[in-house]
This record gives sequence, structure tokens and C-alpha cells, in this order.
Amino acid sequence: MYIQDQLQEIKANIAAAEQRAGRPAGSTTLLAVSKTFPVSDIMQAYADGQRLFGENRLQEAMEKIPAMPADCTWHLIGPLQRNKVRKALEQNIALIQAVDSAKLAQAISRIAGELGTTARILLEVNVDGEASKHGFSPDELLQQWAELTALPNLDIRGLMCIPAPTAEPEGARPAFATLRKLAETLREQGPLPLPELSMGMSHDYAVAIEEGATIVRVGSAIFGRRDYS
Ligand SMILES: *Cc1c(COP(=O)(O)O)cnc(C)c1O
Repeated sequence: MYIQDQLQEIKANIAAAEQRAGRPAGSTTLLAVSKTFPVSDIMQAYADGQRLFGENRLQEAMEKIPAMPADCTWHLIGPLQRNKVRKALEQNIALIQAVDSAKLAQAISRIAGELGTTARILLEVNVDGEASKHGFSPDELLQQWAELTALPNLDIRGLMCIPAPTAEPEGARPAFATLRKLAETLREQGPLPLPELSMGMSHDYAVAIEEGATIVRVGSAIFGRRDYS
């Protein structure tokens, strides 16, 4: 039972990281990133009690959501095109994690209003300033904060980041610390509590927890190597 063994090990690692950081036990949520893996694999995690899953592509999520038991919760963690916002909101997506521009946030707010709902989102921050990456730069986010928090049909729950890959998990620590400090600054500006920090993947989730992650997004360490073919 490879997947269930992996899940148990990751949960133990999460608990150990929480303890090292002096954080309350259970203050980190494990998001199982199931992209590219079949429903049969996801069901193994389900059988072990996992209920929260993350998909990168809306199309793939739309195929898996109806195939899994209804008590699962789904996050969209990949980029969302503006012309797919309505579809995303009509799905049972609990959290759109990678909102990477004011334009996208505005589109989500507008369409959520049309659908009579409030969309829960995270704002993606480009913490290490790579030109090729998605997300708000920290400066941009500070500048646009008043405008973003005034959007009516959005529940901005916090921030997320996908730092550039590093050879050692420790290499990601500065990026995680940057996201945490940015959230602290934005909380001071008000008016949102911003409880969620989504950061850390298979390679570096323990470091992310030490730096304050409340959601870690773990795929390959649970399900094994991804085959994109
Ligand atoms: C694929 C993916 C993950 C999981 O990556 P692993 O290294 O397999 O844990 C986390 N976050 C995002 C945004 C992803 O696309």
C-alpha cells in the first residue's frame, strides 16, 4: 500500500515540523496534489482518510470531481484563464489558489456576483522575482491591495507561492519567509485576517511549515513520480 504508507509518513513529518516550529499540532492542512494521477490512486488516499485534493488544470479537475466521493474537497492550484472562471465557479472548487493578477481577481469577483456566490481565493505571489513566473510581485500586491480588498464577491483567504526549485529544501526558506512577512504586512494594512499561507511541496514542505505554511501542497511524495506523457 504505497500511497497509504507515504501518506502516513508525510503526516508524521508534518507533525514533527509543527512541533519544531512551536506551532499547534494540526495547524497545517495537507493538500494532496492529485494531478496526472488516476482516480484509483486518489481513492487509495481517500481510503486512508484524505479528503482534500488539489488539481492543476480545471479540465482534469472536472473529470475527477464527479468520479470521487462527494465528501472530497478540491482546490485549483494551477493558473486559471479568465474565460474559464465561470466554469471553475460552477464546479465545486473550494479554493482557487493561484489568482495571479488583478484582472483575474476582478473577473472572478464579477462572475461570482453574477452567480450569486462569493469566491474563495488565494493570491499568488512571485516571491523570487523570476520574470517567467506567474503572480503578483510583493510591491505590486502592496500597491493594489486596497483595490483588491474592495472587490465585492471575493473572500481573499491568504497568499500562495511557487518558488523556483532549489537543490536543497533549505534553499526555499527565504522565499517562504518572504511570503510570511508579506502576509504580516498586509494584515497590518487591513481589513482581512488572511489566515492561509499555501507554500511548500514534496521537496520542501517541512521547511515551509517551519516558516508558517498553513497549507502544504504535496503530490509526488504521496502518489509517486508523475508521468506527463
Ligand atoms: C504539482 C504541484 C504541486 C505538487 O508538487 P510535488 O513536487 O509533486 O509535491 C504543488 N503545487 C503546485 C502549484 C503544483 O502545480
